[in-house]
Amino acid sequence: MYLVLFGPPGAGKGTQAKRLEAACHLVQLSTGDMLRAEVASGSALGIKAKDIMEAGKLVPDELIVDMISSRIDDAEGEAGFILDGFPRTIPQARALDAMLDGKGLKLDRVIELRVDDEAMVERITGRFSCASCGANYHQKFNPTKVAGLCDACGGDRFDRRADDTMETVRARLKAYHDQTAPLISYFEKKGNLLSVDGMAAIDDVTRQIREALD
Ligand code: AMP
Repeated sequence: MYLVLFGPPGAGKGTQAKRLEAACHLVQLSTGDMLRAEVASGSALGIKAKDIMEAGKLVPDELIVDMISSRIDDAEGEAGFILDGFPRTIPQARALDAMLDGKGLKLDRVIELRVDDEAMVERITGRFSCASCGANYHQKFNPTKVAGLCDACGGDRFDRRADDTMETVRARLKAYHDQTAPLISYFEKKGNLLSVDGMAAIDDVTRQIREALD
């Protein structure tokens, strides 16, 4: 099964992709995670991407398409993949179609998480993760059980994404509306778009997605 999880920053694409990955044995391909790994390693791509990401803008299409195409090649032979954060522009969507065509594959579904912008600002600016094990938390909606200690591993150091500041979140939402939202009608025309209510509780969103896929 070949899926795209689609929606603005903070919609829950990463959370839902991880759940589907575990439940359906699919590989999660997150361009945001790949870029953060490039930035952390100090690679040439990471150096180019860092300031763009911290400004909340989109990394140029050609860099993204180069980066993801080898990952899509690597995922061949698996049960399928879930694209999380890609495609984000019409040229990226066309490049994806061409990549899949070349392999005789096609997207089964594009799942749109429908959410409210103002709620996304609160969701994103409050999130943090354990520096040791990566468990995700939110200061209001999902705090650690004991203040300052990770529930999963007991770690006491936490990270926040560099682009999760109020100012950058506004820029990321603007980039979404200007460059990414036009993909909704692109996918609608192809007939594989499926919308779910991303404002529901996390388990409920997972249930909606699973029901829609079944
Ligand atoms: P995400 O983790 O998906 O929120 O992505 C974090 C940041 O990485 C975005 O704000 C962009 O700067 C960059 N990024 C991730 N995926 C893409 C993409 N498909 N096209 C362009 N930029 C991307």
